[in-house]
Amino acid sequence: MNDLVLEIIFATVILTAVTLLIFSGMRFIRSPGNGLLAVWIGLGMLLLGGLLGIAESQVMLKTIPVFNNPATVDIIRDFVCYLGGSIMLGIGMIRRLVSASGTNHFEQLNETLAKTVRDLGSSQELLNSIVRSSISGVMILKAVRDSSSNVLDFECRLMNEEAENLLGHSSSTILHKNIMKYLPCIRNDGLLNEAICVIETGLPFREERQCTHQGKTRWYNIVGVKYGDGLVVSFVDVTERREYETQLQHAALHDTLTGLPNRVLFTDRLAQSIQRSRRNVEYKFAVLFLDLDRFKIINDSLGHEIGDQLLINISDQLRTNLREIDIASRTSEGHLPARLGGDEFVVLLDDIENFRDAITVAERLQREISSPHTIAGHEVITTASIGIVTSEGNYDRPEDIIRDADTAMYQAKKTGKARYVVFDERMHAEVVKRLNLEKELHYAVERKEFTLYYQPIVSIETGRLVGFESLLRWVHPEKGIIEPEEFIELTEELGIIVPIGRWAINEACQQLGRWIKKYPQHENLSFNINLSKQELMDPGLISLIKQAIRNAGISPKSIKVEITESTFIDNSIDLIPVLTKIQEMGIALAMDDFGTGYSSLSFLHTTSMDYLKIDRSFISNASNKRNYAAIIHTIIQLAHNMDMQVVAEGVETQDQLAMLQALDCNFAQGYLFDKPLEPEAAEKLLIDNYRYCAAA
Ligand code: C2E
Ligand code: CA
Ligand code: CA
Repeated sequence: MNDLVLEIIFATVILTAVTLLIFSGMRFIRSPGNGLLAVWIGLGMLLLGGLLGIAESQVMLKTIPVFNNPATVDIIRDFVCYLGGSIMLGIGMIRRLVSASGTNHFEQLNETLAKTVRDLGSSQELLNSIVRSSISGVMILKAVRDSSSNVLDFECRLMNEEAENLLGHSSSTILHKNIMKYLPCIRNDGLLNEAICVIETGLPFREERQCTHQGKTRWYNIVGVKYGDGLVVSFVDVTERREYETQLQHAALHDTLTGLPNRVLFTDRLAQSIQRSRRNVEYKFAVLFLDLDRFKIINDSLGHEIGDQLLINISDQLRTNLREIDIASRTSEGHLPARLGGDEFVVLLDDIENFRDAITVAERLQREISSPHTIAGHEVITTASIGIVTSEGNYDRPEDIIRDADTAMYQAKKTGKARYVVFDERMHAEVVKRLNLEKELHYAVERKEFTLYYQPIVSIETGRLVGFESLLRWVHPEKGIIEPEEFIELTEELGIIVPIGRWAINEACQQLGRWIKKYPQHENLSFNINLSKQELMDPGLISLIKQAIRNAGISPKSIKVEITESTFIDNSIDLIPVLTKIQEMGIALAMDDFGTGYSSLSFLHTTSMDYLKIDRSFISNASNKRNYAAIIHTIIQLAHNMDMQVVAEGVETQDQLAMLQALDCNFAQGYLFDKPLEPEAAEKLLIDNYRYCAAA
């Protein structure tokens, strides 16, 4: 009984184990890689069954209590080892075979496809839905062939609403008919050949092309894909996007105000011209750089709207002139005007016959531009300064041509405006020199490389020294002493005259203070200080002068401020308030370089200048040109009538001095007495209490 119960329990355990083995075996071999492992396990189990059989026959197991019963051993051997092993081996081998042939994947794919088709209904229905839902125009076309199998046309089998809209024909008109006659633009554009090509090669066609349809030119993005003996064609109207792109491109390459090409486009064309001139020695071109004269004044006085309109007028003149020009460009590209910005224009004269043509065009443009422009009831007059560069210079970069044309234009401005100048190498050298000087000047300010020289001012009546004019010098570390003529203008342009001038004012006051203290007999000695327009506009000027005078312990009466006549040419800035403040401090004002061409007698009247300095050019010409003596005489009388004292500049000869004395001039300054002196040399005059010879 005990044995029977044991047998039943044992059999149950074995059966459960075998079932579990099968199930876990199935799970285990789901991964294809485990198939081989299952084969090995199966073989192992069969081997174990064999070993068990041998062990049983050798009565080895009988000593172990559980295996006393031979049925137990049989069950283990038969069920576990032989059956389990065979199952494992079988499953493993099937798994290997299945994964090797890939049947499983196909089955899976098939199943998915079948499911999809079931979900979506029939494929025809699917196709219809896709075509109808597309936002592009879609047509399914079938080739129409002749007896020799050549494609003649296409028949439309299916089309959507968007295709009807884009083609302007309803599907009832087009369906099952030859399509080409409904698409005139497409036939014209050779699309039939493209479609045939898609069928023959099986390669898709994709292109954006312009089609003229029902009198309108539109852009379509067209895609054609082979489908049986025909095509699926989809197309979208992209005209708006194309137009927008064209507009953007135009805006990027043109000036918004005048519509002329801008610097980018001009530079690009110029680069092409450079390339061409390299390939072809016969090919010549020239660039004109135009800048309007006095444009800023027009803009400031008449307003920006009139200024803008003037720029538009000038652009139109450039366009028309270049179109009509007698010196025709020999290429299709033609001459090109462009606006660089502000009142700066450039013109590319393309493929000209000789370089003289550039001058002819410049003269013609100048004539046109200088004729009066009537804008909003105003008669606006302007002129242009033009710089010319020709391809003779063998340039590599368009930027260099524009730069040199600009330099030549600048030269035209400098030499009197309303003219043209042709660029030459000397100008280039000057530009390079100027650029270097600019760099060095910035350093000079940082390193305080300036000093003051002093030129005596002498009383004509007594021959005594009454004061000095302080004159700036740049002590260059390599080039030595540099005179103001070479750098003052540049410091003004660079806007660094103010810090330099501040230093000069302080230095002059300090020097005068030291000398008056050291030589009390010269307590009435005075210094003339030059102030340029920018310095006068410096809001800190008045307090700076006050401070400098106070620090030096001198009287404001011992300082005189010289302002050149040219400062007042452009009367856009009112200098009277600052000049009045200077005078209120007790400082005298002198009108410098009087008579240099901008005589503002009216200004002499409105400001109460204390001194008038007659320019050196009058004095030097006085002896050889009779009129000049008469002019000097008039100036002196005029000045005296207005309560001004007169200083003659640039007195170099005894004769000049005699003449000035005869004309009742008060003071003189010039090489006859002394050149501007270093402080030590000037001081020597004070020590010696030097007296210059008065005129005979
Ligand atoms: P400026 O105020 O007319 O100075 C007189 C110039 O004439 C000086 O030139 C002087 O050396 C020169 N000169 C004087 N007598 C004679 C003469 O008999 N014959 C000849 N040929 N020349 C004579 P400089 O020192 O070269 O100064 C040139 C200009 O630079 C000055 O003209 C003045 O406008 C400006 N400048 C000089 N120093 C300063 C300064 O500290 N600040 C400002 N803002 N300008 C200055
Ligand atoms: Ca001066
Ligand atoms: Ca002067």
